[in-house]
Amino acid sequence: MGDVIQIENLAVFAFHGVYPEETKLGQKFLLSLTLHTDTRKAGRSDDLKDSIHYGELASFASQYTVAHPCKLIEAAAEQLAEAILLRYPKLRGVTLELKKPWAPVGLPLETVSVKISRFRHRVYLAMGSNLGDRKGYLDGAVRALDATEGCHVAAVSGYIETAPYGGVEQGDFLNACAELETLLTPEELLEQLNRIEKEANRERTIHWGPRTLDLDILFYDDLILETDRLVIPHTELHKRTFVLEPLKELAPNKRHPILKKTVLEMLRECEQTAL
Ligand code: ADP
Ligand code: MG
Repeated sequence: MGDVIQIENLAVFAFHGVYPEETKLGQKFLLSLTLHTDTRKAGRSDDLKDSIHYGELASFASQYTVAHPCKLIEAAAEQLAEAILLRYPKLRGVTLELKKPWAPVGLPLETVSVKISRFRHRVYLAMGSNLGDRKGYLDGAVRALDATEGCHVAAVSGYIETAPYGGVEQGDFLNACAELETLLTPEELLEQLNRIEKEANRERTIHWGPRTLDLDILFYDDLILETDRLVIPHTELHKRTFVLEPLKELAPNKRHPILKKTVLEMLRECEQTAL
C-alpha cells in the first residue's frame, strides 16, 4: 500500500460529546494518524523539506481537535482528516483513529473509537460551452472549481473549437479538459458540477441541445462506477475526439480502467474510424 508515517495515541484534552458535561469539562482523546505519503525522496535526501514535518502536523491536529468541538467523534474525525489533507499537499491520504477512553457509557470498556481513511483523488473533467461568452464560461468554471472547498485545479488544457455533435442544430462548441485534485466523493463532486453549471445560467431544456456550460466527469482515479446518476468513466469518452484531444495534453498515458487503452490509443482509434 505504499509508504506511511505513523503517529500513535497522541493524547488531546478536548470537548467532543453529546452530553453537557463532556462539552463543558472536556475529556481525554487519543489520536492515531497514518500519513500516506511517498517517503522515497526524503529517504534519499535526508532533508525535512522533502517530507512531512510530523511534529508540526501533530501539533496542528491537536490544536484543531481542541478548537473544533463536535457532538460525534465521527464528525470530529471527518473534519480533522479534511483539515489535514487541505494543509499538507504532500499527503496522499490519511487514516485517522480517534479514541475516547473515558466515554461516559457506564460500562467497563477500554476505549470507543472511530477509524476512517480519506484520500485525495485525481479527477479529469470535460468542459464545454456553445452559448454566449463561451470562453468566459469555461474560464469561470475553472475559477469556480478551484474555489470549491476540497477542490484544487491542477491543470487546464487549451480550449478547442468543435462542431456540434448529436444531431441538434446549434452553434460550435468550445471544449477543454481540466485536471482536479479533490477530497469530494464522485456524488459530491457531481453536485458541485451541477451547481457551477446552474450558476452559469445553464438551463436543462433540449437533451444534447445548446448549453452555456457542461461539466462531465471523465475519470475519477481508476474508479469504475455505475449508478442511476453517475457513470464513471464517462460512457462516451473513448468515442469523442473533442474530449480526447484536450485530455491528451493533460494525461496522454492515462489508461481507461475498463477498455485498458491509454488516452493516446483511444484518440488514434477515433481518428482512424473518422477517416
Ligand atoms: P450530457 O453531459 O450527456 O450532454 P447533461 O449534462 O444534461 O448531458 O447530463 C445528464 C446527466 O448525466 C446528469 O444529470 C448526470 O446525473 C448524468 N451523468 C452520468 N454520468 C456522468 C458523468 N460521468 N459526469 C457528469 N454527469 C454524468
Ligand atoms: Mg453533462
